[in-house]
Formats: sequence, C-alpha cells, structure tokens
Amino acid sequence: MIIQPKVRGFICTTAHPDGCARAVQDQVDWVQRQTPFDGPKKVLVVGASTGYGLASRIATCFGARAATLGVFFERPAARSRTASAGWYNSAAFHQAARNAGHYARSINGDAFSDAIKAETIAAIREDLQAVDLVVYSLASPRRTHPRTGESFSSVLKPIGGTYTNKTVNVQSGEVSAIAIDPASEEETAHTIAVMGGEDWQMWIEALAEAGVLADGVRTVAYTYIGPEITHAVYRDGTIGQAKAHLEKTAQTLDAYLQARSGRAHISVNKAMVTQSSAAIPVLPLYISLLYKVMKEKGCHENCIEQMHRLFADCLYAEASTDDAGYFRIDDREMREDVQREVAALWERVDTDNLESLSDIESYRTEFLGLFGFGFAGVDYGLDVDPDRGL
Ligand code: NAD
Repeated sequence: MIIQPKVRGFICTTAHPDGCARAVQDQVDWVQRQTPFDGPKKVLVVGASTGYGLASRIATCFGARAATLGVFFERPAARSRTASAGWYNSAAFHQAARNAGHYARSINGDAFSDAIKAETIAAIREDLQAVDLVVYSLASPRRTHPRTGESFSSVLKPIGGTYTNKTVNVQSGEVSAIAIDPASEEETAHTIAVMGGEDWQMWIEALAEAGVLADGVRTVAYTYIGPEITHAVYRDGTIGQAKAHLEKTAQTLDAYLQARSGRAHISVNKAMVTQSSAAIPVLPLYISLLYKVMKEKGCHENCIEQMHRLFADCLYAEASTDDAGYFRIDDREMREDVQREVAALWERVDTDNLESLSDIESYRTEFLGLFGFGFAGVDYGLDVDPDRGL
C-alpha cells in the first residue's frame, strides 16, 4: 500500500508505519543522549500510545530502564485501511524496548471498562507483581460508564455565554472569528464524566485492591492551565471543569495512597501539538504563536523533553511544586515575557500575516508528524505493508 496523508479537519485518517517508527526512534534517541536518572522501575501508562503518554513511556523506559505496561485504544490495520498512528507508535516502541533489553507489554482496549482494568491487573500479576508508577494520560471524546452503562460525550465549549475569538484553519491558513455557544449543564457534566478524575480513581482503587501497587507507589495525571486568551474555551470552559475534577481527585488519591507511603500528583504540562489539542478551538492558533515566541527565546520544549523533565528533574528529584502542590512544567510557557509577546501577536495576527507572525509551518509539520508523515529518510512513494504486530 502507498500511504499518503488524508487530512479531514483536525484529524488525519491514515498513518505511516515507517514514519511513526521514525518519530518514536527520534524520541528514544533523544532520551538516550540524556544522563540516565534514578526513577521508577515498573510503570503502568494508561493512554500510552501517543502524545504525553507515549513520551512518559519512552522517558521512563529509556531514561530510568523501567519495565512498561501500556494501555491504549488504537486500531490495527485492516484490509485497505492503515492502522492508527498510536498502533504504529506502540509497535515501534515495543521493538525499540526489546532491542534494548527492556520489558514492554501493551493492552489495546477501552481503559474505561472493568474488563481492561482486570486484564491489566492480570498482566501485572503475571509479569511484574506490582507497579511503582501509574501515569494517567487519557484523552478521549467519549466514555461508557462501567457500572451504569451510560455513555458520555465530552464537548469543548465555554460556560455561561457565547465566546468569540480568533481561530485558524490550519490547512488553509485562514484566520477567522469563531463564536462558540455555551455548554448546557448536561454537556458540562458529561465532559467531567469523560475527562474528570472518576476513571483515574477507579484505576487506582482497582490496582490497590488487587494488591498490585508497590509500596511507595506514585501516580500522576496531566492538566493544562494556559493564559487568558485560552481561558474561556479551556480553563473556564467544560474541559477546565473536567480538569478541576481531575485535580481534586489527585487530593483524594494522595490521601488514599499515603497509607501505602505513596503519592498522587498533578503535572501542569505545556500546550503541545497532539491529536487531542488539535480538536480544541483557538488552541492551534495559540500554539502556533507560542511556538514562534518560545523558539525565538530558546525555551521551546517538545513532548519528550517535557516528560523527561517531569520524571528526571521533578517527580523523582523531589523538586518543589507550586502552592497547589502541582509540578509546573508549563513554567516556560507561562513566563511573563513569553505571554506578553504571545498576547501582542494575538492582537495582530490575521490571514495575511499568519505565516510571518506565527510558527504555523511547524504546527502543520508537527501535526502531520503525529501520523508519521514528513520525515526525512522515509520514502513515502514506496509500497509498504500496513500490518504491524505489537
Ligand atoms: P493524545 O490524544 O495524544 O493521547 C491520548 C491517549 O489516550 C492515546 O494513547 C489514546 O489511545 C488513549 N485513549 C483514548 N481513549 C481511550 C480509551 N477509551 N481507552 C484507552 N485508551 C484511550 O493526548 P495528549 O494531548 O497526550 O493528552 C494526554 C493528557 O495530557 C490529557 O489529560 C490532556 O488533557 C493532557 N494535556 C495535554 C496538553 C496538550 O497540549 N496536548 C497540555 C497539557 C495537558
């Protein structure tokens, strides 16, 4: 099969196995160039196949020689369809981990379900006995509740009133005004049910009750705060309510785990081009301006740099947290000088000056890169077998 990108709005429906393997290897190589750190030894990553979860897996495996068990929901190749990018990423990760002598196993299925939690517990018992780090990095548009069977869909909307701001069509480069109607109470509740902390808590309680959490276990989940420009649609919107719930869950879990001398943490991560963030209105334009400013100032980081810093320099270095107890690896994004410049560019940016004021070009390149496209050294004209085993 000759595989080319097929972009539909903010997703790409195809993925390239060799390009995804290249992207994973680049992250592995970067970690291997850093000084190894004394970190976790047996890690469960929920949401391990793309974005921050994949980077967490790579950083702990190749940075701290950890055995990793990954859970994700990805699509294998079928007849005329490529697999999803996360499937190819995970196949490539397994290969790289095994080549380097590290244990890696993955479970593909719905992490919100009781069945996948039970399968994960069985895999831990079989191979690892217990895990000493649980990374919770799910990003999903929907969830079926395992006890009630109710289905929830998350929405990315403001709360209380219509929100109008700029947005960009990444492919065409058109900057336009967008008006987003406010969420209903039900939509907000559903978004909290999908992206809030209930499932994280269910995971930790299930693992604890099964006796597969090591003494001194740590767990971490990821949140985002961001600047004023994004607040209406993020922090003060439906997704922000879900994140507030996730953050509150961290407190509950921290108290719960203290009995096992464990800890539950929140890490506030930087805005990043991922499959999930591409779907959030306003964010792609903000990210394009942010990348421009951060690169000019020499303080830009990508996913693997963020996750390596989190584990090597914060979580396992007992680094200080903010007043709320969160690790702030969004510190460089939130620097006053960075945000001042982004805000000034935000005022000026339009369709005509987008290419010069922003780093939209990198946004496009990174977006296609998420699906394995655009890598030097990969021949995209070649007929490739889209089947890859995990
Ligand atoms: P992503 O889309 O790259 O990754 C999502 C992961 O969740 C994938 O591994 C996917 O397979 C998995 N997943 C989705 N539904 C699942 C299900 N039902 N069962 C099992 N696995 C499932 O997302 P990301 O941007 O890396 O986000 C990860 C976390 O980081 C989220 O909590 C997000 O809010 C947070 N975060 C992201 C950003 C950003 O800018 N991207 C910034 C700060 C925090």
